Amino acid sequence: MNPRRRPPGDTIAAVATAPGRGGVGVLRLSGPAAFEIAAALTGELPSPRTAALRTFRDADGEALDRGLVLCFTAPASFTGEDVVELQGHGSAAALDGLLRAACVLGARVARPGEFSERAFVNGKLDLAQAEAIIDLVDAGSARAAKAAFQSLEGRFSTRITTLAEGLVAARVFVEGALDFSDEDIDWLADAGLHDRLAALDHALVQLLADAQRGRVLQQGLRVVLSGAPNVGKSTLLNQLAGVDAAIVTEVPGTTRDVLREHLTLDGLPVTLIDTAGLRDTDDAIEAEGIRRAWKAIESADLVWFLFDDRQGMSADDAALLARLGDDRPCWRLANKVDLSGGEPGWRADAALPTLGLAAKSGQGIPELVTALHRHAGLTGSEEPLFTARTRHVDALRRAAEHLARARDHLGQQAFAELAAEELRLSHDALGEITGRFTQEDLLGRIFAGFCIGK
Ligand code: GDP
Repeated sequence: MNPRRRPPGDTIAAVATAPGRGGVGVLRLSGPAAFEIAAALTGELPSPRTAALRTFRDADGEALDRGLVLCFTAPASFTGEDVVELQGHGSAAALDGLLRAACVLGARVARPGEFSERAFVNGKLDLAQAEAIIDLVDAGSARAAKAAFQSLEGRFSTRITTLAEGLVAARVFVEGALDFSDEDIDWLADAGLHDRLAALDHALVQLLADAQRGRVLQQGLRVVLSGAPNVGKSTLLNQLAGVDAAIVTEVPGTTRDVLREHLTLDGLPVTLIDTAGLRDTDDAIEAEGIRRAWKAIESADLVWFLFDDRQGMSADDAALLARLGDDRPCWRLANKVDLSGGEPGWRADAALPTLGLAAKSGQGIPELVTALHRHAGLTGSEEPLFTARTRHVDALRRAAEHLARARDHLGQQAFAELAAEELRLSHDALGEITGRFTQEDLLGRIFAGFCIGK
């Protein structure tokens, strides 16, 4: 990979291990003065990639700790710069002292994500791979960790690059054909071109589906939980919280805020968005809460609408359900089947997907969780291939739309210029994922989401 920008000139330092107590703690240095600063801290440096035991001292020669020193010479390092790792004891105070000593000797404390940013800038990783680092660090399940590692290894990026190369070839052909448009031969009618674009379209749609599954694994499914008071929403939530020792955290806030509960259901991260109070519209402050709730609902993947199976759904329920499920899947959950005499499980006869359950006793909950996994594309046989983010899914969607338009235009030869432009836009959208066309401000936002020392 080619360097994208001139490497930054200063040397950065950060504690790379998690804050708190630990057997080992690592201070990382990267930049042109990394070796010089490390030598001042530890004495003679070992040859690159060889560990040596040294005493770490501050600028006044006072001993701070004793541990291993590891040097990596540019460009064969994580960041592509000279890098040193000092592996001392995992004491916050000792590591802080070491960091301060490094700064006295000329290093600067790294911003969050700055090591990965430098790796990206120096062409060691593309953007999707850099993002995979943070996905791996944040992975909430073994499956998510495995998928993030695949992204880091370039599995996602390779598929993007292969598609991008296919698009370049198609662009060269179409633009070349435009240059020779005065001649008698109709290059653009070439069946080979149409077949190639159809194959690219197919691969892009496939990649989009895989990326959507990867996104769900990394960011979770967002499910709107709705229904009238007393139908059993809290009871359902508590039952789900018992699945797979789920972690439940309630985002602090008043009833005016949108309530979100984060659960992990058999390894699938799920955010439940509570829509309690959606129907109260008289109060101005309440209205703001409702506006926020609708905003949260807009970004949801799925709606669960709970009702008491004894009464069925009211007209109000049906109206709200229609609004919630405007352009996303909606499941009706017929609760309290223990009281209604209904059967737990999916009802084949219902127009909308309807599941009978008894939230209180847990009947129907396994079916609900299994369906959720299937909805997320995470059934046992279909492991997600890599992690992805909303930004990637959006870019792939745009790339697919532009490609589809290009194919439409090519069907009508008069629009060949438009086809060439759509192919370029499709190509640019793919480039955003790996960072070839990403704007600087977006890069800043992406790396700011990383932790310090990464
Ligand atoms: P919410 O207002 O929708 O959150 O409803 P709750 O979860 O607070 O439930 C209202 C009442 O219904 C409580 O007394 C629950 O114990 C009861 N309940 C909820 N689910 C069931 C169920 O499946 N069977 C029975 N028998 N009672 C239930």
